[in-house]
Amino acid sequence: MKLKIFDRMESEVRGYIRSFPVIFSQARGSLLIDDTNKEYVDFFSGAGTLNYGHNNPALKERLIEYLNTDGIVHGLDMATEAKKYFLETVERVLLKPRNWRYTLQFTGPTGTNAVEAALKLARQVKGRQNIVSFTHGFHGVSGGSLAVTANAKFRNAAGVALANTTFMPFDGYLGPDVDTISYFERMLEDPSSGLDHPAAVIVETVQGEGGVNVATWRWLRELERLCRKHDMLLIVDDIQVGCGRTGSFFSFENAGIQPDIITLSKSLSGFGLPMSLVMFKPELDIWKPGAHSGTFRGNNLAFVTAAHALERYWSDDIFAGEVARKERIVRDWLENLVHSYPGTGLSVRGRGLIQGLVMNQEGMAGRVSQEAFLQGLVIETSGANDEVLKLLPALTIEDTYLLQGLEVIERSVAQVLSESRHSASVVRLGRKAG
Ligand SMILES: *Cc1c(COP(=O)(O)O)cnc(C)c1O
Repeated sequence: MKLKIFDRMESEVRGYIRSFPVIFSQARGSLLIDDTNKEYVDFFSGAGTLNYGHNNPALKERLIEYLNTDGIVHGLDMATEAKKYFLETVERVLLKPRNWRYTLQFTGPTGTNAVEAALKLARQVKGRQNIVSFTHGFHGVSGGSLAVTANAKFRNAAGVALANTTFMPFDGYLGPDVDTISYFERMLEDPSSGLDHPAAVIVETVQGEGGVNVATWRWLRELERLCRKHDMLLIVDDIQVGCGRTGSFFSFENAGIQPDIITLSKSLSGFGLPMSLVMFKPELDIWKPGAHSGTFRGNNLAFVTAAHALERYWSDDIFAGEVARKERIVRDWLENLVHSYPGTGLSVRGRGLIQGLVMNQEGMAGRVSQEAFLQGLVIETSGANDEVLKLLPALTIEDTYLLQGLEVIERSVAQVLSESRHSASVVRLGRKAG
């Protein structure tokens, strides 16, 4: 009823409004509040955009201060004080302590803008067209990014052929006993495999949209080895699971690999402001001045909050330790839940504060998400068949809200399982009677 104007005016393309059919009016930390003042714990975080919570007070303060002094808001790619401070902060907080050298390219503000730039650069550098991406990978929905995205729902909307890419099986795709890297290696080594020599490989270390599929450290190291051996650039798309989601600022750090190109967006600004970044090894910088542009490459409000988020949360290891502690809470809880319902096809997977509760019964994850919403929890599903309940709480979430959300999940799972047992027995009884 209340959503009438959205139904009347907005395209059928709208998505999340269908899962969470209320009008949200305010948000604070890990709470979302609707226009009837009902509170929801947020386990969705804007699909990983709000790692530091809604309206994070420290970031908001900087932002208001900046606006009050008439700081530059829109700056194309001109030099501004806010951008200068962001660059200095990246150097001091991210690069120097790791002894890394990367060149930064600011692109248009969405994740897919960063992926497009990364793919373009890789193709220019290697003078080859083909890019390898992985089954269940998600990299955005504009032309180039869509071509490396696996999901048929998105691909079918393109209306043109999505070319110059090859999909390889992700880690674990063919079951625990098949090493998908050896398959990829064989394809590269056999001149008659049909695989065009790729310019680059693009990969997520944990596939967010694709169902919380986790690549092992070993697999990532092997992938890097293949890239070196076969002269392909390694692009890590850290748009969803970077910015601390898996426990370290970059999701691949514990693998000890050094991607040639890294894409960041979603939680980079820290405040939900649009901002994207491509980082690449300095020797790859063959861009001609102005050869790739974008009106909104200089969201200075985002530079202000992004710099402050880096300083505040990533200058030392304290915050990373907190994320690890919360990971254990979530993981223990989910594993207990799985063990409480043996034989129902539940399992858990994830890394850091992206965890998936996998439900093999058709439609169950969606039902649990709906039930959870009624009980005051915002949580989405992911995976090829929406079979994974995806937990993405803010990294800053208070323990009470974290536990409250986990309790809602547990109650919702119990509720949906008892309903399905009930309807299954009704079906059985019906058959017998027929
Ligand atoms: C969300 C996402 C993108 C696309 O970002 P948009 O801002 O939606 O364009 C790309 N890659 C990954 C891994 C993502 O999760």
